[in-house]
Amino acid sequence: MKTETRSTCCYCGTGCGVVIDAEDGRITGVRGDKAHPANFGRLCAKGAALADSARLDYRLLHPQLRDVRTAPRRRVGWDDALDHAARRFADTIRAHGPDSVAFYLAGQLLTEDYYVFNKLAKGLIGTNNLDTNSRLCMSSAVAGYKQTLGADAVPCAYEDLDHAECVLIAGSNAAVAHPIVYRRLEDAKAANPNLRVIVVDPRRSETCAIADLHLALKPGSDIALYNAMLHVLLKEGLVDRDYIAAHTEGFAALETLVERYTPAMVAELTGLEPEAIVLAARWFGTAKSALSLYCQGLNQSWHGTHNNAAIIHLHLATGHIGKPGSGPFSLTGQPNAMGGREVGGLSNLLSAHRDLGNPAHRAEMARFWGVPFVPPKPGKPAVELFRALKSGEIKAVWIACTNPAQSMPDVAEVRAALEAAEFVVLQDAYANTDTAKYADLLLPATSWGEKEGTVTNSERRISRVRAAVPAPGEARHDWQIALDFARRLGAELGQPLTDKLFPYTTPESIHAEHRASTCGRDLDIGGLSYALLETAGPQQWPYPEGAAAGKVRLYEDGVFPTPSGRARFVAVEHKPTAEQTDPARPISLLTGRLLEQWHGMSRTGTVPRLFNGEDEPLLKMNGCDLRHRGLEPGALAKVSNGRGEIIVRVESDEGMPRGRAWLPMHWGEQFMNGYGANALMPAATDPYSFQPELKHAAVAVEKVELP
Ligand code: SF4
Repeated sequence: MKTETRSTCCYCGTGCGVVIDAEDGRITGVRGDKAHPANFGRLCAKGAALADSARLDYRLLHPQLRDVRTAPRRRVGWDDALDHAARRFADTIRAHGPDSVAFYLAGQLLTEDYYVFNKLAKGLIGTNNLDTNSRLCMSSAVAGYKQTLGADAVPCAYEDLDHAECVLIAGSNAAVAHPIVYRRLEDAKAANPNLRVIVVDPRRSETCAIADLHLALKPGSDIALYNAMLHVLLKEGLVDRDYIAAHTEGFAALETLVERYTPAMVAELTGLEPEAIVLAARWFGTAKSALSLYCQGLNQSWHGTHNNAAIIHLHLATGHIGKPGSGPFSLTGQPNAMGGREVGGLSNLLSAHRDLGNPAHRAEMARFWGVPFVPPKPGKPAVELFRALKSGEIKAVWIACTNPAQSMPDVAEVRAALEAAEFVVLQDAYANTDTAKYADLLLPATSWGEKEGTVTNSERRISRVRAAVPAPGEARHDWQIALDFARRLGAELGQPLTDKLFPYTTPESIHAEHRASTCGRDLDIGGLSYALLETAGPQQWPYPEGAAAGKVRLYEDGVFPTPSGRARFVAVEHKPTAEQTDPARPISLLTGRLLEQWHGMSRTGTVPRLFNGEDEPLLKMNGCDLRHRGLEPGALAKVSNGRGEIIVRVESDEGMPRGRAWLPMHWGEQFMNGYGANALMPAATDPYSFQPELKHAAVAVEKVELP
């Protein structure tokens, strides 16, 4: 039988709608959904290859368990697997307390999956040790929005691209990382020749093809650049004093601070010509509407929160926010990093954007869940979580749908932590990840095309994800696995509330509870039922009960969700990268993504045609830097620092300024020698967001002499 199922792409945060064609239980094709407001039928190379990736040869199809580390895993039934896991977790909790266990999730999970895991950790067990790979991706955007605008909410929508007169793309290679957003920008530029595009990126990326101005700043000098742009806006009378007076606070301190940030002064810090900084500021300040698009280049920094704040300041100072074509638009990396944040899927959050550090929010959640209390002790964010695993403070970890043995910075340390752990559970659809070999218990999960739920994309739009084919082998849905484990663990711990806490029978029943938890909050989706999504299609939040539509744009009235109702300027100073180059490690290594690949390639790595662009990781360097090392294009080079080394082929790229190199982060140990690019990255983290600096490391690059 042939079927057509509407769903959402499982890769980037653009959140494109897809139509899945299936026949007799197999996915036979995937098309763009013309009715979906994110993509209107378009798909990028990855999305268009989704049907090719729906194959079983790399899938995990049965639970597998090993009793001791040295033994091979053996196939077991679900009951044995989950009983064993519940016993191990219960024993650990009884002996060492709730904070001796941890959960590490992924922005690939659906909102409903996240919700159950969050309740399991924070409601049932009583630990806030639940973090996700969104910590590596978007947590600085979260902290940046909260510090300045008062809430973790992207105030813009994709349609703002059509209304912008100036688009500032900062730390985002949208052409490859958010290809459909980029195509919408291309359309906007074709329709409006006066639209000016500024790209801020330390290298000439693919996105620079659309740039009217490319600012190839030194890695880590973002704050200096944006402070200098604010300096120019002030000097040239391009700030909106009325908006600042009516809707913001804290501007005086920042105004005093940026007095020092003259374009001439920051020329050395940023490596940019002062005239280019002045031009960028003028374009931004004189445009009737200005939109900024930003992503990991800002976030994956040990001062990522302030990078975000510095760019948001430009919008607040010019009033370019809350209007068509204007606003600071953080592009979400993963398909559901937003949904994870909405249900409190980080170690410092609770459901519906509540803060763990707020006693009133903890009390609200405890009442809502019907538990005596939510523990006040902050959970450990990703880097600290794996450090605690290595030290023995955390003894058991449950990992779902992510691959920390490749994706974390300083991978060797994370692998040492997984070795040191007493018990590692990995719940995943794929068996081909670097993390799988560390798992004592492997649990097969369903994947895209097989599961039901919702995701939220970069513009706050909630879309349905639907199953087109049945679960393969013995795979179960992520929420079901969490639920079945929770019930067993509750019984082991003698927790009488367990059945009441986990009454769910379907993803819709979980979503209904999540919706109820949002009522009255900034992201209120009380009116956004599955039934409404079915009839009205994907919708932006907030969408309270009784609303006729979601909100395209936030802060149109100039009122912000802060105690004073005003947005906040934060006096942020330049700070260099965590690691400086030196004679032993003279190259600044940057990392990034390719159009055809996604994250650690567990899915895209199974599709031969997605290797047509690049079939191995290439180190891009300036020709002079290559010649200086005796390297011809295509030669092998060793890239190393104190944390790791990898051997890769080099490619000459005149878009790379001298002293810099670039490497894609997709290849891990499964696909290459060494642990991949992230093994070289420092685990230095931002003090507010705890996001690690995954974008920059100081390395040595040497020719590999072949025998
Ligand atoms: Fe999927 Fe992103 Fe490509 Fe859209 S742009 S098809 S969401 S990978």
